[in-house]
Order: sequence, then C-alpha cells, then structure tokens
Amino acid sequence: MDRFKGIGVSRGVAVGDAFVIESERMPVRPRYIPEDQIEAEVERYDSAVVAAIEGIRDDQRRLTPRLGEEYLAIFETHIRMLDDRSLRDRVVERIRAGPMAAEAAADEVLRQHIQLLFEDKSTARWVSDIYDIQSRLHRILLGRSSGDLVELAEPAIIVAENLTPSQTVAFERGKVLAIAMEAGGETSHTAIIANALGIPAVVGLRGLTAGVRAGDRLIVDGGAGEVVTEPDQAILAQYVQIEHDIVESDRQLIDELHELPAETVAGRRITLYANIEFPYEVQTALDNGAEGIGLYRTEYLYMEKGREPTEEEHFEAYRSAAALMWPRPVVIRTFDLGADKATDSTGGPVTAEPNPFLGCRSIRLCFDRIGMFKAQLRAILRASVHGYVKILFPMITSLTELKRAKDILAEVREELDTEGYPFEPDVEVGVMIEVPGAAVMADAFAREVDFFSIGTNDLIQYTLAVDRGNPVVSDLFQPAHPAVMKLIKHTIEAGDAAGIPVAVCGQMSGDLSYLILLLGLGLRQFSTSPKITPELKRAIRLIKIEEAREIASEVMKEPSIERTIEILTTRSRELMK
Ligand code: PEP
Ligand code: MG
Repeated sequence: MDRFKGIGVSRGVAVGDAFVIESERMPVRPRYIPEDQIEAEVERYDSAVVAAIEGIRDDQRRLTPRLGEEYLAIFETHIRMLDDRSLRDRVVERIRAGPMAAEAAADEVLRQHIQLLFEDKSTARWVSDIYDIQSRLHRILLGRSSGDLVELAEPAIIVAENLTPSQTVAFERGKVLAIAMEAGGETSHTAIIANALGIPAVVGLRGLTAGVRAGDRLIVDGGAGEVVTEPDQAILAQYVQIEHDIVESDRQLIDELHELPAETVAGRRITLYANIEFPYEVQTALDNGAEGIGLYRTEYLYMEKGREPTEEEHFEAYRSAAALMWPRPVVIRTFDLGADKATDSTGGPVTAEPNPFLGCRSIRLCFDRIGMFKAQLRAILRASVHGYVKILFPMITSLTELKRAKDILAEVREELDTEGYPFEPDVEVGVMIEVPGAAVMADAFAREVDFFSIGTNDLIQYTLAVDRGNPVVSDLFQPAHPAVMKLIKHTIEAGDAAGIPVAVCGQMSGDLSYLILLLGLGLRQFSTSPKITPELKRAIRLIKIEEAREIASEVMKEPSIERTIEILTTRSRELMK
C-alpha cells in the first residue's frame, strides 16, 4: 500500500482499478542498440508507420460521422506526412548513425522538424500535426495507450501525467470513477471540468505514474487530495465511511439553507451565482440555491463536440439555460478557447504556439475566426428573448479590443434585425477582468460596459507569471500576493465609482478564507462552482461587514504573503466555529 499526496480539486471518494494513460509528447530517452540490431530497428520503424497509418484510417472511419467530412483532409495530411520518403530516410539514417532504437531516432528527427516549423510563422500551424504523428508513432513503438478518445471497457480510475480538458470532456460519462494526475493546479481547466462533471479528482501528484500500474486497485479522495494504492480492507472501509459522511453533510447543508437568503449578520444581501460548463448544471445550480449563472464557460460546447457548434446548437444550449433560470440572469461568456482549452489537430481551432497562454487565446482567437464568433453572438442574442441573458467577453486587454468586440456585436444585431429575428435590444455587456493591464485600466473599462467579472484564475497567473496548471510552481500561485489584492481592490472600486456591478468568478471566490477579505473590499457578488454555494451561504450568514472591512484594511497594509494567509486563515477559522 502506498499513499500519494496532491491537491484535491473535486470532492468525493472513489474506489476502482487504475487505467493508466501515457502522456502525449513524453520525452523519449535515447536508447542505443548494438550494431547487429540495426536492421531489426529499421523494420520495427517501418511496421510502426504501417500500423500508424492503419490507426489513422480507423479513426477516420470512426470520427468522420461525428466531426464531418471537412476533417477528412486532416487525416489525409497525417497519412501523407507519415508516408513521406524523406522522413523515413532521415529516421533510418539516425538509427544507423546511433546506432539507436527506432523511437529515439524518430523522436530526434521529428523534434528537429518541429523546431524548423516553429521558426517560420507560415509553417508553425503544422506543428500540432507533427506532434500528433509523433505521439502516434511513440505509442506504437513503446506499446502505450493514448489519451485521445480513450474508450474504457469498464469503469476505471484514470491515472495520467497530464490530461487536457478536451480529453476529460471526451470520456464516456459514468465510466470515469475518478481522475488522478501528476500535472495540474487548483485552478487548471481540467480540475474545473472534473468538478463540473462531479468526478472526484486529485492533481499535482508527483511520481504517481511511476508508482501505479494499470489494473492496480486505488482509492482517490478528491477532498483530502490523496491517492492510496492497493488498500487493505480496513483502509477501504474508512474511505467508504468518509464518502458517506460527505454526501450526508452536503445534503443536510442544502436542506438547512435552501430557503434562507445569503445575507450577512446585519442583513446585507450578497448575491451568489454559479459557474457552469455544461447545460445540465443549470439544474444543479438551482438545487444548490444559486441566484443565477455568473459564468457560463461556453467553450465546452465546442470541446464536447470536438468541432465548432452550429448556430442552432449554440442557441438551443443558451435558450434552455436562460428559460430554466428565468427570471434569474445567465451570464454567457463568449468562447475562451485556446491555450489548454484547445482541441487537438482533428478539428481544433488552434495551431501549436510556443507560449499558448500568451498567444492567440480567447477573444483574440474569436477575432481570428469571425464566422465562429458571429455564430455564437447571434445565438446569444436570439436566446435573449427566452430569459435574462447577459454577454461577457473574456481576456479583454485593451479598450481597442473591447470596442472591436462591441462593433462585431452591433453588426450581428443589425443582421438579426434585417433577418427578422427577435432579440433583447439592450442585452447587458460585461468584460472579464483577468489580465493585469485591464485591471489597472478598470476605470476606463467601467465607462464602457454594464458589469465586471473578475477572473482571478487568470489574473493571478498573469500578474505573478505562474502557470495555473503547473504543479511545480503551484506554491507561487498566491491569491494573497499584495499585487493581486491591489488589482482586485482597484477593480471593485472602479466598478463602484461607475455604478456597475462587480463579481469575482475565479476559484478564489469559492475559497472560504478569502471570503471575508473580498467582502471587506466591497465585493457583493460571487460566482462559484454550484456545489459550494451552500457552504458559502452558511459562511456569509456568520459574517459582520464591519469586521470584514477591518480585516481587509489590515491585510491591505500587509506586504507579506505568509502573514496575510495567516491572518485570513485564523479569522475565517474563528468565524466558522
Ligand atoms: C478565471 O480566469 O478566473 C476564470 C473564471 O476563467 P477560466 O477559469 O475559465 O479561465
Ligand atoms: Mg480566465
């Protein structure tokens, strides 16, 4: 029995057998071979290419009905690349020169090729295709299973070095008992998705893939952030009890608070919205007492389908959410695709970039794909007559960008008008404040929009230069950093001065230790995973705004992150007693 400690990102306990997914683009160790094995390695490479091409043909047959005919061309390109004579010559040359194993030679040649493609902007878009064929060859040569479109015969616990959000979305519902992976942080998109899907998940588990074999019995405790391998009966019984207690206390909390308002001790009303990724979560939000949807991450419509949704598909998703939530609001965020929320080369919109989080992500990608953006805006406007819909633009960095997004929205309005579609003419428009530059300029933005939503996940990532999904630097991902808090305070004040509502929709708003601080800074709207709405409500009902203000002013004078955390943890613990 072994225990691995990581970061619990989606509560719940699961027991099951491990299904280990080898990571894509895993570095291949150079393996040298004796001279007399050269010909065998050349043959092994040739057979791997044949098998890879067969695999592509299989995928083509399987996926074309789902992705549409236009994606056939991508499969054909991959086949051509693999079949290329000069690629084979270079790999064989490396095998002989090493002499080295086929996978090591192929890896070297393909990496050089990727480097060359990256150097030229016009060829960089091919990089993801080379990655694709590279990982296909690796899997065949090393006999590993792929993370793409994994089909699980039996329910299992997924163990991986890294899973992308698209891979997570693609799993068949009900087959994934839990997720345990080495990469990822608390605010990584895969963590957010696992939580939305109700799959217990632990991320940041160093050494996990080396310590777990396929078929090992595992316990995953998504609340405590623990994975236990090959547990004995006593441990198993202990975790079954933990799971039972969690379910029971969640149910009691919902029952106890459902009819009560989210208000502080002196009766100050606070609004609790829910963040959702999938349409069915609207019902979860209502069941948990949320007063609206504060963030609808629509990019999952794209990722679930593995292709661009049609206008009608967008419309249906938004119409049903708006109708079910009515008269409560539904804030629909336009596509935040790109970076980790990219689909792969079988239909994804994103070409590989050296720094995808700083690249063509989110609103930038929408400007690059006007047709896709307009189809979504048309659908949102059309859905606006079926409920209370608002539009939220993500990752806005400059006023020029905001103006461009609003101009496109105005064009779409005109088009719908001409075509005779009904829509709400004054749909409220907001921006996410999630780039430090936008937070600094919050007063200027406040004059141009109807509301702000502070995305602390990205705001922290960009302010502190720390990848939100990288466990190696997860200690540096600090909401308590004074720079982050100053940007949040400035944004709340700018919103207040302009008389527009400000919400926080990043994970920080669901963290009880930051609740007092945010209330003390003047925040009155929170948008969180619907599952924590009851807990948040209970905490709010114990808080005095005066006290929260005092704590916030003490913290804002504090330059030390550690001391700030200490103050907030102690005060929130006292409060929850
Ligand atoms: C954020 O960045 O805080 C946010 C809410 O958006 P996402 O997590 O989808 O990037
Ligand atoms: Mg964000």
